[in-house]
Amino acid sequence: MVKILANDGIHPDGKTLFEEAGYQVDTEKIAQADLPGAIGEYDVLIVRSATKVTAEVIEAGKNLKIIARGGVGLDNVDVEYAEKKGILVFNTPAASSQSVAELAFAHMFSLSRFLHQSNRMMPVKGDSDYDKLKKVYSEGVQLRGRTLGIIGFGRIGQEVARMGVGMGMHIIANDPFIEEAKIEIKPFNSDNAWLNVRIESSDLQELLSKSDFITLHVPFSGGTPIIGKTEFEKMKKGAYLINTSRGGTVDELALLDALNSGKLAGAGLDVFDFEPKPRAEILQHPKISLTPHIGASTFEAQENIGLELADRILAYFGDDK
Ligand code: NAD
Repeated sequence: MVKILANDGIHPDGKTLFEEAGYQVDTEKIAQADLPGAIGEYDVLIVRSATKVTAEVIEAGKNLKIIARGGVGLDNVDVEYAEKKGILVFNTPAASSQSVAELAFAHMFSLSRFLHQSNRMMPVKGDSDYDKLKKVYSEGVQLRGRTLGIIGFGRIGQEVARMGVGMGMHIIANDPFIEEAKIEIKPFNSDNAWLNVRIESSDLQELLSKSDFITLHVPFSGGTPIIGKTEFEKMKKGAYLINTSRGGTVDELALLDALNSGKLAGAGLDVFDFEPKPRAEILQHPKISLTPHIGASTFEAQENIGLELADRILAYFGDDK
């Protein structure tokens, strides 16, 4: 019998598919320190981002044939070591693109109408200072007609572009590896694409200087920020920055300076330098809209991830249960 440890959980639909095929799926979380002692009996290890699949874990996984990461990126898996041991490693990169793109827009909507501040202040001062709050939050902006700069024009970046075009935004994209992309926009439940938009990749400097909203959709940058002091200096005064990619892609100290000096009007962050303990100055900053790394955490994305994991793992083992 194939034994699977889904140490960071798996959507019930994916679990059911395995169980129908006669596999055993354990979802009881094993603490990181206890993992080397427990992994030996499993054929498959499924993780999200919390469990670290280190060389020590892989070495102890004498029966491991597959390490699967539900989600984008493999930064929590020692891929090289696993592959050296002949273990198949894969992730489910496309399953959550829509959800992450929607979260990027959620932050843009929040910032453009001060929802992040209003939701903090209304419970405290909504009855005593209603008119005052109304005045402060009455200086919002529309997204329609604004320029949206997308850094990283892969799966999520292109999904953001699709939504941005629908919102009536002007799109500028930057990606050193993608020259242009054709964005198809389809009405709900229809296969007849009714709008095709071709977007060419632009120079980063142009993007920085022209965008009202800048959103990052690049891979983990190995600790070297893509947006730092120099890039903030080149941005428009009053621009907004959204980061739903990975902690480390933005220099957080330079971000705080840019917010405090008034260069940036606001920032929307789903990812942080020191997860799960982000900097207090970031968490408490009134110009930052915050979410705790939930980009892929929607019902639909988790369902897609679970089904994609099940498809690939069942195909690997075939009839050999
Ligand atoms: P992708 O690989 O499809 O696209 C990334 C793009 O970034 C690629 O086209 C690549 O060429 C480009 N790129 C690389 N370096 C660049 C640079 N310096 N400047 C500009 N572009 C650069 O990946 P994706 O599926 O679109 O995911 C993008 C990011 O979103 C990843 O970092 C991923 O970890 C993150 N993500 C976050 C969440 C979340 O919960 N917040 C969920 C899923 C994915």
